[in-house]
Amino acid sequence: MKVIVLGSGIIGTATAWFLNKAGHEVSVIERQPGAAQETSFANGCQISVSHAEPWANPSAPMKVLKWLGKEDAPLLYRFRPEWLQWKWGMHFLRECTPARTDRNIRQIVAIAEYSRQTLQALRTETGIDYDCLTRGILHFYTDQKEFDDSLPSAKLMRELGCPRESISADAVVQIEPALARIRDKIVGGDFTETDESGDIYKFTTGLAKKAEEAGVNFQFNTTITRLLREGTGDAAKITGVEIIDAEGKHKVLRADAFVVAMGSFSTALLKPLGIDLMVYPGKGYSATYQVTNSAAAPTVSLTDDGYKLVVSRLGDRLRVAGTCELNGYTRELNTTRCEAITRRTRELFPDACDYDNPVYWTGLRPLTPSNVPYIGKTRYRNLFLNTGHGTLGWTMGAGSGRALADIISGRVPELDFAFTGMPRRSNGHSLTVQPV
Ligand SMILES: Cc1cc2nc3c(=O)[nH]c(=O)nc-3n(C[C@H](O)[C@H](O)[C@H](O)COP(=O)(O)OP(=O)(O)OC[C@H]3O[C@@H](n4cnc5c(N)ncnc54)[C@H](O)[C@@H]3O)c2cc1C
Repeated sequence: MKVIVLGSGIIGTATAWFLNKAGHEVSVIERQPGAAQETSFANGCQISVSHAEPWANPSAPMKVLKWLGKEDAPLLYRFRPEWLQWKWGMHFLRECTPARTDRNIRQIVAIAEYSRQTLQALRTETGIDYDCLTRGILHFYTDQKEFDDSLPSAKLMRELGCPRESISADAVVQIEPALARIRDKIVGGDFTETDESGDIYKFTTGLAKKAEEAGVNFQFNTTITRLLREGTGDAAKITGVEIIDAEGKHKVLRADAFVVAMGSFSTALLKPLGIDLMVYPGKGYSATYQVTNSAAAPTVSLTDDGYKLVVSRLGDRLRVAGTCELNGYTRELNTTRCEAITRRTRELFPDACDYDNPVYWTGLRPLTPSNVPYIGKTRYRNLFLNTGHGTLGWTMGAGSGRALADIISGRVPELDFAFTGMPRRSNGHSLTVQPV
């Protein structure tokens, strides 16, 4: 079967890889000059199954209200005269009930765990070097209430098979001695030794190269303008994708099947087809510093709960990422947010890095209100979705690609997950979630 994948972030690239493995003829269309140049470029780099709690949880509404208007707030909702943003906000509130939070956590853990195993197998198979560290993820707390509130989540994770252990402040510093300087501020932590970290950009570009060698055709510098359709009801299908190629020429590319993996930009492409995706951009920031004193820099991937920042060691660089601003599709840098990241990192590891030359970056997380992605079918029989991976696209990426390749190939993916537009296979019920 001839399949066109739209977008070459981690999700599109992983999907293309597994489609090729399944024997399909695969092309990937991407507007950038290479793979992983938008959200999959400089993120927090954590493979974090243990922190599957979505932002939409029972404590979120009060926190979001408290943070309104605060320039350096971890999650900032800037109201805009934009229907999608308001609708998204209402759906977000709906996902904050305990029952929905519980359901969403279970979904995210299922795909994240499957994905971590898939990533591990992929790195063994391909040998891609991406500064991977398998030293676990250590989450530390500086607020007693936040730590106490984390205990039930950690327990739920353990019940779901994820070994997230709640630990004392001394144990935190034992696991990551670079945190010794702030020992007196730490009240506790949790550690998941099976979690990992690694450079998403290096991995995705490495996988794209291997996929190309295996026969996948990547068309970079090519902008997708619309999908063409025909038929109604069960006969509805996509006949082609209209693009502007690298020479500026409009063309229509034909295929048997199409996969939308365009991150935050999937929503606008699908709207004219009557598919209302609830994916909205959540702008996040990262800063990358050159490590100048290796012994003073952490090697265990960290989450600083108070500042909602994640820290990953990537060879001789330190990546610090976090914060979220719901403010449309702009990627401009806000100096206050950038400086807040450097201030905090310097406070944590003052002697570790060259803080005078940070490399700042922003990216748009493709957020669904529940943080559960759309992976599966649509009402167009040859149009498939792999988008909306939000805060955990790197964690869920490899598995999402593999699962969708299975679905397109007519196989049932090997995990219990509410795939879009498909009956749920486990427990004997036929439950369709997120129909589009
Ligand atoms: C600050 C920050 C920190 C994060 N930290 C983590 C983390 O630690 N762990 C984790 O698991 N996740 C993390 N994430 C989330 C993760 O980075 C994303 O979920 C993931 O990168 C999304 O991948 P994607 O392939 O869906 O989107 P993208 O990487 O954005 O890929 C979509 C592609 O589609 C292309 N495209 C879009 N429109 C068009 C068009 N019209 N024509 C042609 N091409 C088009 C884009 O150019 C892009 O390359 C973080 C995100 C941010 C912003």
